[in-house]
Amino acid sequence: MDGQDPIEVPSSPRDKPEPHPDLWYSDGSVALIAEGTAFRVHGGLLAANSDIFKDMLRVPQPDLVETYEGVPIIYLSDTKNDLEHLLKVIYRFQCLWPEAVIEFDVLASLLRMSTKYLFTHIRNAVIARLQQSFPDTLSKWDKTPVPSASTAFQVVALARETNARVLLPAALYRCCQEPLETILRGARDSNGLITKLHAMDIEACMIGMRFLVAARRKHTFRFLSKGPRYRAITGVRSVHVKWSEKCAKLSYCGEFIQSFVQFAVRSGSWERHDALVRTTDELWEARRQRVCVHCLAAWKKANTNGRENVWNELPSYFNLSEWDVIRGECR
Ligand SMILES: [Zn+2]
Repeated sequence: MDGQDPIEVPSSPRDKPEPHPDLWYSDGSVALIAEGTAFRVHGGLLAANSDIFKDMLRVPQPDLVETYEGVPIIYLSDTKNDLEHLLKVIYRFQCLWPEAVIEFDVLASLLRMSTKYLFTHIRNAVIARLQQSFPDTLSKWDKTPVPSASTAFQVVALARETNARVLLPAALYRCCQEPLETILRGARDSNGLITKLHAMDIEACMIGMRFLVAARRKHTFRFLSKGPRYRAITGVRSVHVKWSEKCAKLSYCGEFIQSFVQFAVRSGSWERHDALVRTTDELWEARRQRVCVHCLAAWKKANTNGRENVWNELPSYFNLSEWDVIRGECR
């Protein structure tokens, strides 16, 4: 519940509600009224899945004295559309199945309504849908197309509102990939609508970006910061650091990594926030001409392990509890 009383208290005589053309079951036991539309549904079904409805239907409310076509009425303060989305899922759960096409606005409505009325299984199913774009594991993140900035901004606000914190690390990470101006002023979607972050999330991004820059150096590109980085920046001649005991091109590999670091510093990539960046096989293959296979394999492994470290630490960059805790909140 968000503290709002779900039952709307009438202050003036109402017009007779219009029955919903679809969600109107002749054997339904209660009429839910939202914005002048009546949904005749089964009270037992609602009560079995929602403690809030269970209480509303068990304790006689003043409104229950009123009837509509012979069944008690409950006036709700929700919009007609929000109630319609919720009831459609209650009666036809398959519309939330993973392969079902469902718009973000509908998912957001369902998450708010299922949170408000404590429909736990619907809430968890909606969060699972949103996790298709904002997952809780690195392996899923790597298979996920990069969501738009405006979607990430909306998901951050929605996750805060509904306390679905498991969505936040990936969503905030996505926000942090945007230019500072976008984080401060909002992200524009394909229709030109701008979604802004709340002040606390702008702050979370600012702090998170500093952690991400550090994590990129410490973990993702650890093989660059081990030893040669200092020498590259200061210009002191490299003393080769062995990355692999089997290194077959000792001087080449040392020179290469030094040039790699110098390029990173000059190009500004050393300050970037994409700590989960994956060095593709193609990129590694291009390096293969200049370094030995053993060092290449060692660097690739360091990159893989480093990204996993970043993912594990990701919630902490945004002042969130660790993964297991925020996962546990959505079960
Ligand atoms: Zn080597």
